[in-house]
Amino acid sequence: NRDMATQNVAVLGATGSIGTATLDVLQHLDRIDGANQWNLWAASGHANLDLLAKLLDGLHRPPRRVVLSDPESAIHFRSRHATAAMQICTGPDALVEVASDPEVDIVVAAIVGRAGLESTLAAVESGKRVALANKETMVVGGSLVNATLMQSGAELLPIDSEHSAIFQCLGEKSCKPRKLILTASGGPFRSWSAAQMDQATPDSALDHPTWDMGPKITIDSATMMNKALEVIEARWLFDLPAESIEVVVHPQSIIHSMVEFEDGSVIAQLSPPDMRLPIQYALTYPRRLACQVPPLDREQRWDLTLEPADRERFPALDLGFEVAAAGGTAGAVVNAANESAVGLFLEGKIRFTDIVPTCRTCLENHSFEPNPTLETLLRLDRWARKEVAKQANVDRPLRRS
Ligand code: NAD
Ligand code: MG
Repeated sequence: NRDMATQNVAVLGATGSIGTATLDVLQHLDRIDGANQWNLWAASGHANLDLLAKLLDGLHRPPRRVVLSDPESAIHFRSRHATAAMQICTGPDALVEVASDPEVDIVVAAIVGRAGLESTLAAVESGKRVALANKETMVVGGSLVNATLMQSGAELLPIDSEHSAIFQCLGEKSCKPRKLILTASGGPFRSWSAAQMDQATPDSALDHPTWDMGPKITIDSATMMNKALEVIEARWLFDLPAESIEVVVHPQSIIHSMVEFEDGSVIAQLSPPDMRLPIQYALTYPRRLACQVPPLDREQRWDLTLEPADRERFPALDLGFEVAAAGGTAGAVVNAANESAVGLFLEGKIRFTDIVPTCRTCLENHSFEPNPTLETLLRLDRWARKEVAKQANVDRPLRRS
């Protein structure tokens, strides 16, 4: 159709939970949107290349570029799947190239962890619309991202459901909010005692009550480090101080977050816990189109409960607020320590309740800088990962029990 505009979308982290949901949203939009053709222009995968191959087989238009960020897994894939229409690129630099390719209109940043930083920054630098799931990028380099945004005129739209909710509640820029109120499901250990959490296994921590997500963010939800990272993400996305941000526990995950204004009025965003809605809104904003997520069932009784978060059992929360207030290098250090500690917990090498204290020790032992460069942030990221590995070997050689 000649009247249709084309939206070329690069999905970085296409094999993940957010990535596969995004491919689903793109196919849906391509079917129902009369104004745009929605093209998956590029897709990236890291190690799970069988899944990537399966996802690509299911598309009626293959992407122009496929990025395999792990060069070792790439050789095999190339020999089986390369076609004339589909260029296969490898290595982390290829992510940056795709993210800044002039043909790309929208970059969906859905890589997990600090590994998403360079490509997200490249997309922001090249003035794209960036639909951001990769919260770790804001935690590590929020101030750099914001400075780059000012220069490039890129659009940064949140996919994280809480931040999408806040973005939707804020409405017109003329009213400054008094508080951003992030809701938290409380995760699988919401009602566990500290002693029970001491003995938590990876399987019990991976069993999230309301959301189906990748393993790293699922463990982060169990420690509530996910909410800590989201407090820091909100601080940078909405450019508000840590004191303007609050966390409240809402086990049903239907109220995705709220904004309180100067007169005390609170606006909330509600929808079923399904990431396809915030993903679609980040793609189509400011338009709202029909979405595949079924509306909330109003024939049933709903219980929407709100309760204060327990900061004693979930020390990640205080840590998150401290990091949000400190800025500078604090986010990079805590994020790297957390990524390493979560990996060690999943390997059975440290206890669940070691994760957050390990992050705090790294924060306290690093040499803080208020205005770091990207190089400094990346150096401290590497330093914190080494520190966590050292602590795990020296302090706690064996997992208790
Ligand atoms: P996931 O583990 O399911 O997927 C991660 C993706 O990143 C995969 O495509 C993987 O191949 C890729 N990847 C992993 N390591 C990589 C590396 N070193 N280099 C390049 N690519 C790499 O994770 P997810 O749950 O989809 O989460 C992705 C991001 O979105 C995270 O930052 C998470 O915090 C955020 N997020 C997720 C959800 C959710 O519902 N899953 C909700 C809000 C925010
Ligand atoms: Mg979230």
